[in-house]
Amino acid sequence: MTLRVDSIVLRELRIPLRTPFRTSGGTTTERRVCLLELLADGETAAWSECVAGERPDYTAETIDTAWHVIETYAAPTVLGREFLTPRQTYEALSWIRGHPMARAAVEMGYWAMAARRQDVSLATLLGGVRDRVESGRTLGIDDDPDVMVERALAAVEAGYRKVKMKIEPGRDVEPVRRVREAIGLDVALSVDANGAYRLEDSEHLARLDAFGLTMLEQPLPARDFAALGELQKRLATPICLDESIETADDVRTMLALGAGKIVNIKPGRVGGFTESIAIHDLCLENGIPVWCGGMLETGLGRAYNAALASLPGFTLPGDLYPARDYLARDILDADGAGDVAAAAPAREKAGSHASFIPVPDGPGVGVAPDTTIVDERTQREVRLG
Ligand code: MG
Repeated sequence: MTLRVDSIVLRELRIPLRTPFRTSGGTTTERRVCLLELLADGETAAWSECVAGERPDYTAETIDTAWHVIETYAAPTVLGREFLTPRQTYEALSWIRGHPMARAAVEMGYWAMAARRQDVSLATLLGGVRDRVESGRTLGIDDDPDVMVERALAAVEAGYRKVKMKIEPGRDVEPVRRVREAIGLDVALSVDANGAYRLEDSEHLARLDAFGLTMLEQPLPARDFAALGELQKRLATPICLDESIETADDVRTMLALGAGKIVNIKPGRVGGFTESIAIHDLCLENGIPVWCGGMLETGLGRAYNAALASLPGFTLPGDLYPARDYLARDILDADGAGDVAAAAPAREKAGSHASFIPVPDGPGVGVAPDTTIVDERTQREVRLG
């Protein structure tokens, strides 16, 4: 069996968020979703999603840089070529420096295609061991701590057992204290700064140690490994690295410098599943717990993430809650039947706990976009190959 894709249809869709989502980097009100349809022998072989954001406020990539790189470099590299495994597509694309989200969108599509050809689920092909994965709920920043408390309580009420708060200088200790008091100690609480602080803030950040946080995610800028190592010495709260980790080698740097104790793996951020698995395996060998972060993906992107999160080292709850909770309109089936997280039988199988998300068990990625919704939302489209 070989993997060959003849053409890729690249689409941009626009979908408003239900509520603006604010991090220390900026506010998102509308997702510009980049979808790839991989075609072989005139038929759809796989759908995949590029998770790059609207602005370069998470990492350097945006949907526009990703679109350019996929169209000009990534697609021409793979189209028409015969690959034996999806890992070979990762190797083929590795001449492209940087642009991991652009490369990942192509590489992950090949993984889904390979799984479908073998009639197994993507989770099985990746080496997954779980049929459901736990999710927490992430809260964007709000100037009003009462609103943060309200959102945290709503998440707990909905059944989530982990809440993550975005923080930034000036909106940290006080809202965290308020939320911790409101939800109590039985609910896991973590915070994510998206690189907004500096080592000089270490005394201030140490005040967060009082709240029994599961982790402080990415307190300092991505490449500041030495400073992260120094900060970790001054904090009791474990540091989790997100933006810092683009390759398994970054994990080696983290370990060498003591720059973090937990890793957030997002397949888009690291160039796809091949590198995600390498990072996962290295963390597992070194006793570093990992979890799967989110990029406000559609239900399609979330299904890819759920498959990855079924691997054994993903021992902490991920950001895998349903896309329909934040997108005004998901792209999976209109009635929600295709939404793995909303499917009633699946929910029943997973128990009544909202915090458990079933891992799709159909062949391939296990979900497909509703083409009517895709067509309605498409703003631009190009056929490559
Ligand atoms: Mg993060």
